[in-house]
Amino acid sequence: MLLQTPIPQDYLRLPSGSLDDRISAAKAALGDRLTILGHHYQRDDVIRYADFTGDSLKLAQLSQSRPQADYIVFCGVHFMAEGADILSQPHQQVVLPDLSAGCSMADMAHPDDVEECWDALTALLPEQTLVPLTYVNSAARLKAFVGRHSGCVCTSGNADSIVAWALEQGHKLLFFPDQHLGRNTCYKLGIPLEQMLVWDPRQELGGNSPEQLAAARVILWQGYCSVHSRILPAHVARVRAAHPGVRVLVHPECPFETCQASDAMGSTEYIIKQVQSAPAGTSWAIGTEIHLVSRLARRHPEQTIVHLDDCACQCATMYRISPQHLCWCLEELLAGRVPNRITVDPETTLWAKIALDRMLERS
Ligand code: SF4
Repeated sequence: MLLQTPIPQDYLRLPSGSLDDRISAAKAALGDRLTILGHHYQRDDVIRYADFTGDSLKLAQLSQSRPQADYIVFCGVHFMAEGADILSQPHQQVVLPDLSAGCSMADMAHPDDVEECWDALTALLPEQTLVPLTYVNSAARLKAFVGRHSGCVCTSGNADSIVAWALEQGHKLLFFPDQHLGRNTCYKLGIPLEQMLVWDPRQELGGNSPEQLAAARVILWQGYCSVHSRILPAHVARVRAAHPGVRVLVHPECPFETCQASDAMGSTEYIIKQVQSAPAGTSWAIGTEIHLVSRLARRHPEQTIVHLDDCACQCATMYRISPQHLCWCLEELLAGRVPNRITVDPETTLWAKIALDRMLERS
């Protein structure tokens, strides 16, 4: 995990009005040389400055539509900024306003541990073809790993088609880092739970016997999102009792039992589209990050939208991108200095891009 050195104290003391003026002025002065990307889970006092909003992959792709921008400021988390650097032009520099903005799920799959798992499985089962799939919420090194091993990247929006493709390619699927997305998707595609195992990187053979591993169709990495994994079936039961007729909509990073108890499951973009296309008067309980749910509720006053989880969790790492850090970062760029640049080395970029292109061809 990268750590942000403290930004000058002056920024932390700025009243919000001055902060707003300075961010707007820096943005205007940088003009076309700057693109600001804002992830859906980003706080309101940051996302309001974004040129584009979306999920991680959509943002990285949208930034490609602004080749004139020398600087891409990614208001998201570290793996997203890496993705933008992989897809950016050579002259473009990607900046993460706070280096401590990581993703706890992505950090659960360390590339060395995944390589160790891969070596153990291929040594144990030499006659079986193993296909590696990584969720886009992962380090660039893991995207490169799947690129090198004929695997692929997937997003929560295209997981169905990519997992279906991967299952056709070999005997066994190794899915990381999010066990919930992997389990929910495979189950939806007809793989029974008994054919899925969890790999715990802290245990010998991931905590499984050689026989279990030989028989399994899918091996799921023991990773999860600290936000979505807190959304439980009890929350679904509670909201149904409190709001008769409510439609429960959840993200596939939620646990299996929660998704099974819900009415629909899909990516952030899917959730947004469901709400946008619903008739006035529809009542929703949405299980995903609180900033997105609150924003949808404000934008659609003609519908009733509540958060499914009673503690309404926010993504703490994403929240580290503050207006103060954004202001500091833009003023540094204006002064000719590039702070917090995120770069991916050429070899990793090459293989990660192969994996991303493979995904785009198939989704
Ligand atoms: S919401 Fe979860 S998966 Fe998304 S960035 Fe935050 S910790 Fe990572």
